[in-house]
Amino acid sequence: MNYRISHRAASLAPSLTLVIDSKAKQMKAAGEDVVGFGAGEPDFDTPQHIKDAAVKALADGFTKYTPSSGIPELREEIAKKFKVENGLTYKPSQVIVSCGGKHSCYNVILAVCGEGDEVIIPAPYWLSYPEMVKLAGGTPVILPTSDQTEFKVTPEQLRAAITPRTRLFILNSPSNPTGAVYTREEIKALGDICVEHGVLIMSDEIYEKLVYDGAAHTSVAAFSQAHYDHTIIVHGFAKAWSMTGWRLGFLAAPEPIAKAIDAIQSHSTSNPTSFAQKGAVVALSGSQEHLPKWLAEYAKRRSYAHQRLNAMPGISCVNAKGAFYLFPNISALGLKSIDFCARLLDEQKVAAVPGIAFGAEGYLRISYATSLANIEKGLNRLETFARQLAGK
Ligand SMILES: *Cc1c(COP(=O)(O)O)cnc(C)c1O
Repeated sequence: MNYRISHRAASLAPSLTLVIDSKAKQMKAAGEDVVGFGAGEPDFDTPQHIKDAAVKALADGFTKYTPSSGIPELREEIAKKFKVENGLTYKPSQVIVSCGGKHSCYNVILAVCGEGDEVIIPAPYWLSYPEMVKLAGGTPVILPTSDQTEFKVTPEQLRAAITPRTRLFILNSPSNPTGAVYTREEIKALGDICVEHGVLIMSDEIYEKLVYDGAAHTSVAAFSQAHYDHTIIVHGFAKAWSMTGWRLGFLAAPEPIAKAIDAIQSHSTSNPTSFAQKGAVVALSGSQEHLPKWLAEYAKRRSYAHQRLNAMPGISCVNAKGAFYLFPNISALGLKSIDFCARLLDEQKVAAVPGIAFGAEGYLRISYATSLANIEKGLNRLETFARQLAGK
């Protein structure tokens, strides 16, 4: 039988991280002492009051279909969040709850990007963006950045990449995988260019609350009515409330785009899980006491890891201002990032994600969403490995 895979599905890049990830899991299962720096999710548990709300919803029989774009009380809580925290006015009808922030991203791209449209994506990027653009029939246009600019794209770069086919610019600040946080001025400069050229912005703000050193998050939608009209905000519950497995994300968009996404979602996934949505209402409306504790813990780990990485031969690392990742430069050690990570796992039993998976050769992604004790152990091993490679 010749299973002919559609050309869109066949165009997807196989996940480079999968090889290392599945090997790390195998080694762990075999009882080996692997230190994992690969996690893309918080190591904290979902706060209890959020779990209680979902359990109660289940017990109360809240187990049926809901409106496909989410229950009204959750869409209202989300609209309230944007008003109070970001100064942005959205009607609940402009808010769509989806099955994870990733699903929200995919909905946005499907809604605005058609055959032959170009989508500008700064690299290092979250690895799903370009693949989603390809699935929608569009063309990803990658703008490389480096640690020299703290992994931020410049207004000149963005301007030069815009063509008559450019439909969307993807901005992710704070960033996965680099932890970069654009300043208010930098965001405005990029937003101004998009407004000037009629390019839409998908602003992935899922790490909004995970910022350090007094860095502040600014939404590009907040600068003016024109910025608001050009922006679709993607957000979710995965990171700041540690709800990755709940599969709940949301987006806020100008009305016609929200309407199109509502239609897409109603014909694909229908609603996100009913009782999970009840938990999410409480995530927004209930106590946020967990967050300062998590932030203090992340900040401690980040400082420790940043300082340790920079003390290793052949490794340099800009300090991240947000999220829970560091993106050290390993290019001086002379290995391709994929070979570096394969050998690091083999020889030192440390799992990290190669930069090339995010479109940036010469780097690694280190997630510090793991205990300080693990971080210390893993970095000791990484240091041994770096010393060997550097001959020191
Ligand atoms: C984690 C993450 C998301 C959303 O993840 P979900 O689990 O689908 O909610 C979106 N964007 C980035 C950059 C992320 O790291």
